[in-house]
Amino acid sequence: MSLIVQKYGGTSVGTPERILKVARRILKAQATGDEIVVVVSAMSGVTDNLIGLARQVADHPSEREMDMLLATGEQTTIALTAMAINALGGKAVSLTGAQAGIVTDGVHTKAKIANITPKRIHRLLDGGHIVIVAGFQGESFDGHITTLGRGGSDLTAIALAAALGADLCQICTDVDGVYTADPRSVPSARKIAEVSYDEMLEMASLGSKVMQSRAVEFAKKFGVIFEVRSSFNDEPGTIVKEETSGMEKVVIRGVSVDRRQAKVTVNRVPDRPGVASRIFTGIAAGINVDMIVQNVSADGTTDISFTTHSDELPKIKRLLGPLVGEIGAHSFSAQGGIAKLSVVGIGMRSHSGVAAKMFELLGEAGINIQMITTSEIKISVIVDEERVDEGANLVHAGFGLGEETPRFAKSIVS
Ligand code: ADP
Ligand code: ASP
Ligand code: MG
Repeated sequence: MSLIVQKYGGTSVGTPERILKVARRILKAQATGDEIVVVVSAMSGVTDNLIGLARQVADHPSEREMDMLLATGEQTTIALTAMAINALGGKAVSLTGAQAGIVTDGVHTKAKIANITPKRIHRLLDGGHIVIVAGFQGESFDGHITTLGRGGSDLTAIALAAALGADLCQICTDVDGVYTADPRSVPSARKIAEVSYDEMLEMASLGSKVMQSRAVEFAKKFGVIFEVRSSFNDEPGTIVKEETSGMEKVVIRGVSVDRRQAKVTVNRVPDRPGVASRIFTGIAAGINVDMIVQNVSADGTTDISFTTHSDELPKIKRLLGPLVGEIGAHSFSAQGGIAKLSVVGIGMRSHSGVAAKMFELLGEAGINIQMITTSEIKISVIVDEERVDEGANLVHAGFGLGEETPRFAKSIVS
């Protein structure tokens, strides 16, 4: 007998019919003799709708109340899923995050899991129940409801699998697994059979929203091997695990796109120690800055550019206005409409020529690269959002990712 944790995302439980389908799948899994713990998300669109409602009653709702509100999305789904299973003759009990023993820190809307005491889950499993746990939520040490950041049901599933010592953790979603690129925008994308934690983590952080990046981080830390697979069929999905020696042979594992980015440039910043620190401490409050580029200095001044999510633009403008005067810079400009296009692969550690090839592919198509960053296993460029899908398709094809056996380094650098 195995203990299986299955997570079903928003689309998979998006309608009553789909909840009934999921309920049948869960019962089928249990019928083979396994113990099943299920994590569910809010029905698709519900979390976004709740955020929209909050904005209609308050410009800056408190994050505590946001968590109280958002947690209701998942609470609806756990009850409906348990009801569906029971109506089909099974035995299921739903638990909120707090009831499941998920304790977090007190950072509302992006809480971190501190510990899980799954006593109640074990007791229910021992009684022959299927346990349905609300994803995305927990309870802080002092008893407030918290949420784990967008896409956080993935994290609930991985963390529960670790705490329960589950034999299998399945992330069931609306695609058949992790693909070489988002199949919605790159039609030739292919399912990847196995991917390392590091590659999955980069892909997730660089915009491949099929997994929440914090969930992958957690899985890597605690060695939770998991599978991303379809909720709608029984095809094998993608296994995410520690890298194996064969994995480095593939230079590029995937292409990721992060849309709705914005570029901010502070013009003619005095080139002296402490100024960059003043700019970035000044805007650090709650703003996630991504790439940072400083130009060479001319006439004792330099330009500093950075990227962020375009939702941050109003906040950035509010904070940068006074700062520009204070540090003696000339002005600043802020512009949305850009996107980040990245290639990811642990094979880049041992193969050269990837950046050159990527720039060549984009250059030939006349797609202008506005910024570049690299790490050991990724190359990211900023391009116009309008052309990012075209760029993703070109890069995907150029590296042979749509082919059955992706081409190796030799053919890439030749
Ligand atoms: P869920 O609601 O099940 O959590 P998500 O919408 O969060 O599902 O994630 C699944 C979606 O992720 C897919 O529909 C797909 O469009 C998108 N996606 C982005 N990048 C990838 C990728 N590399 N492989 C598979 N899916 C991807
Ligand atoms: N419902 C939450 C969200 O939409 C959590 C999740 O779906 O994983 O972000
Ligand atoms: Mg998701």
